[in-house]
Amino acid sequence: MIVQRLHEIQNRIGYLPDAELAKVAREANVPLYRVQEVAGFFPHFRQEWNKPPRVELRVCRDMSCHLAGSDKVLKNLTGLAKSGEVAVEGVSCLGRCDRAPACSFTRTDGERSFHDHVYAGRLLDDLRRIADAIIGGNVAPPPDTDQAYTPQGNQAEWQIDVYRNRPELGDRTYRAIKDFLLEHPEPIRGRDPKQHPWLCRLDPAGLLGMGGAGVPAYRKWLDVWQATGDEKFIVCNGDESEPGTFKDREILLRMPHLVVEGVILAGLMTNATAGYIYIRHEYGEQIAAVRAEIDRAIGLMACGSNIFGSGRTFTVEVFVSPGGYICGEQSALIEAMEDKRSQPRNRPPELATNGLRDKPTLVNNVETLAWVPAILLQHDGQKSWYASQGRPGFRGRRLLSISGNLERPGVYEIPIGATLGDLINMAGGVRRKRGLGAVAPSGPSGGLIPPTLPAADGWQDRLKGKSPELATAIREGIRAGGGRFDVRHLPLDLLLFREVGPVLGLRISLMLGAGLVVYDSSVKVMDQALNFTRFFRNESCGKCVPCRIGSQKLVEIGTKLAGGLSPIEREDATADVFDLAYTLGLTSICGLGVVAPNPLTTVLEWFRAPETQADFSID
Ligand code: SF4
Repeated sequence: MIVQRLHEIQNRIGYLPDAELAKVAREANVPLYRVQEVAGFFPHFRQEWNKPPRVELRVCRDMSCHLAGSDKVLKNLTGLAKSGEVAVEGVSCLGRCDRAPACSFTRTDGERSFHDHVYAGRLLDDLRRIADAIIGGNVAPPPDTDQAYTPQGNQAEWQIDVYRNRPELGDRTYRAIKDFLLEHPEPIRGRDPKQHPWLCRLDPAGLLGMGGAGVPAYRKWLDVWQATGDEKFIVCNGDESEPGTFKDREILLRMPHLVVEGVILAGLMTNATAGYIYIRHEYGEQIAAVRAEIDRAIGLMACGSNIFGSGRTFTVEVFVSPGGYICGEQSALIEAMEDKRSQPRNRPPELATNGLRDKPTLVNNVETLAWVPAILLQHDGQKSWYASQGRPGFRGRRLLSISGNLERPGVYEIPIGATLGDLINMAGGVRRKRGLGAVAPSGPSGGLIPPTLPAADGWQDRLKGKSPELATAIREGIRAGGGRFDVRHLPLDLLLFREVGPVLGLRISLMLGAGLVVYDSSVKVMDQALNFTRFFRNESCGKCVPCRIGSQKLVEIGTKLAGGLSPIEREDATADVFDLAYTLGLTSICGLGVVAPNPLTTVLEWFRAPETQADFSID
């Protein structure tokens, strides 16, 4: 309640006056420090002591925007800064990586006030003109909305939206829910999933969580269904703050019905009582689209109280995130929903038994839930429609965001098992037919990989007993790379992706995320790695000392490395980076601390070989 009240006050007044904070504390019946704790943790919230000036110009400084020259934009606009009047600053990823560089402008001057107007994909001169108009109090040009933008991608091939071009289906999911509730008016309880006619359909589908970790959706649903208690929750994680990732932005805006249906299905299948769709505050259009869909579902009696006259209750509402990359970590997200600092929890206990308000809670990514209507309703006996959608030997499909030096950055739905090369080709290939220089396969988290990776002696032996799909990918990749592994042959399958590194004998794991960034052969890899490292330093929640201090230390070392060091100094700096990586891996509570060294370790490890022709300099 506190976080949502703070949003409301800030939207109304532009910041959080002390008197309003005191009022919120009284309303919530909590001491004032509890409200200040929340207001002070999230940079999005502004208080009396750091009141926003009349105009704020924010420039995204991460990954694709950095690549598109956002630091030059920032430098140029900084000349407009005026104490107390105009502030110009960098900001973490705004989720418009396909239209880099992205900027967010806010003006608070009465009638002409507006918040977080995004201008994306504009040239510097254009941005300068917009900034001048806003500062001068003139009518601001309309923002570049997501709705007006026709995203690039392969939307015509998306199987996730089963309703696309099929009006005859009507509200098929809601009709199926109605029939299900007629047959099963009482919640189905128990431990054996075979007793649950719909829950057991998830298992053969092989749907993995699309938020990063790749935990099977079935496992999570089963745990929450089996958990005891009369109160359980579903949380749809729409925080999507990882640089390079914007697929959920498209799902929430253009297919909100799938998300709401997925949440309702999850709620009714696991006997939950309430569902929350947690969306980052920068996604204003998406929040509106989802709220409209929830209202429609309530109107149809598909959620709320007495669903389709069954007597069952499952409410759904949007929770607007106060923002920050760490909010995407599921336990940190739950902390934010409990009106606390968004800092990850030590686990166990797990969220499946002790989640939101200490009750069993299912947290799934937007896309994971959006696939569920198709999976549950297009099931035929023991056969899963979803499983059959992958390439031979693989199960399912997924959406990936891809940006950077590409002809057509966008969101692409691929059959699992398609390769990195396939995806790059779908996106039109590297821009201006330049050669591939590097790929960030998991936002900044997986660091950078070169076009070819080394294959240490004995890879044939290490391949023994592995799946035929992995064996084929490795053999073809090494053949194409002339003895090294050509990364275009990496199959875009989360689990198989992780297996490639050990077979090649790499000492750093490969990670596949939902957002990939492609760099052409002119890339300066250490500059990019430093950019990624700064992102982690900025977003560390500060709970663990090694991450809080170590991420700053990494930025300092990366800055020296990028600046040019003697061979001996470079060796010392490299040793320090790997020492820090070891320490952070052992001591970090959450994944951010574990992956924070990856940008530097991957560049130092894989871009040194002359074959990669890596440019380590920063300018
Ligand atoms: Fe916070 Fe970093 Fe610790 Fe994660 S590892 S809990 S981000 S301090």
